[in-house]
Amino acid sequence: MLKSIQNLFFPPRCYSCQKIVPELTPVCSICDLKVLKTHFSFDKKNAVFWSVQNHFPIEKAYSPLYFEKNSPTQKLLHHQKYKDPNLFCEYFLSKISREILQEIKKEITAILPIPLSPSKEKNRGFNQIVPFAKTLSKALDIPIIENYLLRSTESSSQVFRNKEERKIQIQGNFHLGKEKMSDHHFLLVDDLCTTGSTLGECAKTLCQNSNNKVSVFSLAYVG
Ligand SMILES: [Zn+2]
Repeated sequence: MLKSIQNLFFPPRCYSCQKIVPELTPVCSICDLKVLKTHFSFDKKNAVFWSVQNHFPIEKAYSPLYFEKNSPTQKLLHHQKYKDPNLFCEYFLSKISREILQEIKKEITAILPIPLSPSKEKNRGFNQIVPFAKTLSKALDIPIIENYLLRSTESSSQVFRNKEERKIQIQGNFHLGKEKMSDHHFLLVDDLCTTGSTLGECAKTLCQNSNNKVSVFSLAYVG
């Protein structure tokens, strides 16, 4: 009752264009069409794979969406990053086909969200990718491991850095928790893959002195 009165005065709106939408629908049908899918497979043949592979050898990679400026995808990811990381988890999951989920499930032994530095997480109040990583973990029935891959040094925003500067800056930024894990095929989960340098550095850290393999999942790829 309270909810329906609330909806009367404050109806749910599309997070991209503000048009009124049915309850529990993050975007309207027009914006939904503009959330561009990549149609990548979980393999070695796509652009996300090569972005990361340029920095460190990985097994496979996948990204369900393309990231474009001013697109609904950008608006959703921005909202997820700075306001509420929980709202679009099921929506993003719905963009991944059953076949891809099965492919991932066949090989991956643990899911690892990319960590933020402790001070950044404290300031923001959350790590924006953790709720989605948990949703993926539940859908695949694969454990999520937090607090194993850790981010050490502070890093200023990457937005205005060029490729070389980013690569130098990100080196040595990650380390591992005390108990060493071996013989895993980790799936690193991030929201956005741009140059692949962060994901590559994480993969390198996870493979140091251990018999681990790493694959990569990024919600969106900046093509
Ligand atoms: Zn819309």
